[in-house]
Amino acid sequence: MNPKLDVLPTALPTPPPPAAERGERWTNPWRSLPRVRWAVQLAYLAFLLLVGWQFLRFYDAVRGGGPIDVARPPSVEAFLPIAALVSLKRFVLTRYWDEIHPAGLTILLAALATAFVARKAFCSWVCPVGTISRAFEWLGRKLLWRRGWPSVPRWLDLPLASLKYLLLGFFVWTVFVQMPLAAIEGFMQAPYNVVADAKMLELLLHPSTTFLAVVGVLALLSLVVKHFWCRYLCPYGALLGVVSWFSPVSVRRDPEACNDCRACTRACPNEIQVHTKLRVLSTECTGCMSCVAACTTRDCLGVTRKGARTLSPWLVPALTLGVMIGFWAIAAATGFWQTIVPPEAFRWAYRVMGIG
Ligand code: SF4
Ligand code: SF4
Ligand code: SF4
Repeated sequence: MNPKLDVLPTALPTPPPPAAERGERWTNPWRSLPRVRWAVQLAYLAFLLLVGWQFLRFYDAVRGGGPIDVARPPSVEAFLPIAALVSLKRFVLTRYWDEIHPAGLTILLAALATAFVARKAFCSWVCPVGTISRAFEWLGRKLLWRRGWPSVPRWLDLPLASLKYLLLGFFVWTVFVQMPLAAIEGFMQAPYNVVADAKMLELLLHPSTTFLAVVGVLALLSLVVKHFWCRYLCPYGALLGVVSWFSPVSVRRDPEACNDCRACTRACPNEIQVHTKLRVLSTECTGCMSCVAACTTRDCLGVTRKGARTLSPWLVPALTLGVMIGFWAIAAATGFWQTIVPPEAFRWAYRVMGIG
């Protein structure tokens, strides 16, 4: 007999049981993530409300007959995603940055960059509509679903989730296939494009019955189905989802450590079955880190980069906010943030478009 075989162990060593079975108490070090996320989301919401208030003052000044002594906040262009998509095509074709709504293009590219480095964390940590959607989730749990939100059955979830990709496909096809460069130049110089933000403000200040009905239906649906708008209808989120598919960063689960408690799945706003995945590669993952914060077992759920060791979950919001602020800082410093349209030209465009 080979003497070396004598010293081999007869069986592989068994892994230690999970901490809970060993009677060890474990406190999840990431449990404060949702609270911090709320703080960041509310801070962004407050910032955008300030932007809206500043834009309202600018809008009033332009419509009035006196001097326009209120600065137009460039961040208002975040609400013009279609114009940003058009100017993205123009930039690809001509290498010219959008001079009318430069901040809109900057914000779109920044959001796409966040989707690559940190999945759709823009939705969970930045977008104000995502914050409102989270508020509806909280309200729905308080009013209707104290014992937990009902899940949308898979046979319904998949076709509903494809709606936003259809909408995205429509916009991408219209802009990138249907619009020649001449039409894009015409669109961008047109008074309608110049006043697009003011038109949106008018819609909010004087909503039509149809608009109110649509918002009301969406609000009711958001109380019945978790994150209805974001999960099923938002084409912006769909675009970020497509880019996030290429992201090397994802939530990963260690099946050896997992005790199948499913707290992660219950915490997920997008009803991803986290407890069954090795890596969450879904384009629906918004990098909110609720699952990581809810995990009940040590070293079980975390964030990883493909082929690399485990990363801190704080990296996801840090990268997201870092990219957003970085794009803003570079654009502001290099002249790609402020519109070249002078205040008097806005006044002319407002008159042409019948605003005020
Ligand atoms: S899905 Fe759309 S509306 Fe919802 S958070 Fe993401 S970008 Fe915002
Ligand atoms: S899988 Fe985790 S990080 Fe992704 S959306 Fe669900 S709870 Fe958030
Ligand atoms: S929270 Fe999810 S990943 Fe963590 S132990 Fe429970 S089932 Fe496993």
